[in-house]
Amino acid sequence: MPDPIKVDRTQVGIIGAGPAGLILSQLLHLEGIDSVVLEVHTRKYIEERVRAGVLEQGTVELLTEMGVGDRLKREGLVHHGVEFRFRGRGHHIDFQDLVGRSITIYAQQEVVKDLVAARLASDGRIVFEAQDASVHDITSGAPRIRYRKDGEECELVCDFIAGCDGFHGVCRTSIESSLTIYDRTYPFAWLGILAQAPPSSNELIYANHELGFALLSMRSPEISRLYIQCDPNEDIANWPDARIWEQLHLRSATLDSGWKLTEGPVIQKNIAEMRSFVADPMQYGRLFLAGDAAHIVPPTGAKGLNLAATDARVLARGLVEYYSTQKTELLDRYSEICLRRCWKVQHFSWWMTSMLHRIPGESAFDQQRQLAELDYVTGSRAASTALAEHYTGLPFTM
Ligand SMILES: Cc1cc2nc3c(=O)[nH]c(=O)nc-3n(C[C@H](O)[C@H](O)[C@H](O)COP(=O)(O)OP(=O)(O)OC[C@H]3O[C@@H](n4cnc5c(N)ncnc54)[C@H](O)[C@@H]3O)c2cc1C
Repeated sequence: MPDPIKVDRTQVGIIGAGPAGLILSQLLHLEGIDSVVLEVHTRKYIEERVRAGVLEQGTVELLTEMGVGDRLKREGLVHHGVEFRFRGRGHHIDFQDLVGRSITIYAQQEVVKDLVAARLASDGRIVFEAQDASVHDITSGAPRIRYRKDGEECELVCDFIAGCDGFHGVCRTSIESSLTIYDRTYPFAWLGILAQAPPSSNELIYANHELGFALLSMRSPEISRLYIQCDPNEDIANWPDARIWEQLHLRSATLDSGWKLTEGPVIQKNIAEMRSFVADPMQYGRLFLAGDAAHIVPPTGAKGLNLAATDARVLARGLVEYYSTQKTELLDRYSEICLRRCWKVQHFSWWMTSMLHRIPGESAFDQQRQLAELDYVTGSRAASTALAEHYTGLPFTM
């Protein structure tokens, strides 16, 4: 890269304006710590990107404390439980009764919109369309980020760099040789649709069916988010809308009369691979990884966004300690604190995935065992409580 034309300085350079990067930037701002967020895409792109939609209670509380909870409170749909459907019957898990907690349905792009608006309203610096970001001198006291903006070579000199650039970003790959990687891909994927249809139920429905898993979810009172398990090599062109609806009807059907899946125009569809991934440690020198840059969970447990928010919260605490006392005790423990939670969430997400999907090559014994597990989880108060505790979010600990 040629010499930079423009050199800038900040305390914390953040790569990536997803939930992790934006939450971190806002938390630092509230503590008087300066940051710059570099994002490769446009503002419009990140504010329209459809992804997660389930917020743990702790994530809702965090966003509210950060001053970005107003619209979430008005428009978010609070759910007090979920339904598991198998052998044609629905089984309600009542979070409120079991653990006194809830989840909120609020689309990830809305969280991103609220955070971007809050950062810009307080003169926060977000550089959109920052191309070819790369990290340098990360073991020194003044790490640098090089990038290109509108054809100009730029450099951002920082005290710390936060790698919040998602699974395909540059930060983790820059330090991969010093990391241990734990990785598992699953022999199935999710075909997801966004449909202009009111949700068929007040709660999410997780269905275990002999044709494969289905999840009936929503993003708002007008929009449903629906998924079916499919082959990871499936071509989306082989899935016209009618075929998707047919599978959704079959997999979610109940023996009880009265319930009906609501259909509507499909406004988006995609196939997403299923993966569990952890990079350990989540830090090298003055580069800290947060969110999907460090770990991925299969979406069955609805944890990815929530885990990203928790990493940002832990990292912000460590940086606040550093800037107020010059101590690095929390920063030194950042990886240990985050990974401890991450592995519990990894286990939960893997467990939910294993319990609910048809696994290629599984035997009739495996299927009966899976149904027995669902029967136990929905029938035993002790087992339901464990599920409810995980689903609504484990307590935040440092
Ligand atoms: C299709 C899909 C569906 C999902 N559904 C769910 C769900 O239902 N529930 C759930 O909990 N989770 C879900 N997830 C996971 C969840 O969306 C992620 O865990 C969450 O986005 C993680 O936030 P993040 O900030 O760590 O990463 P991201 O949201 O990926 O943000 C990273 C940001 O960095 C930017 N970036 C990348 N590289 C660079 C670079 N070189 N320079 C500058 N910027 C860069 C990206 O454009 C992006 O804006 C889903 C993910 C996908 C892909």
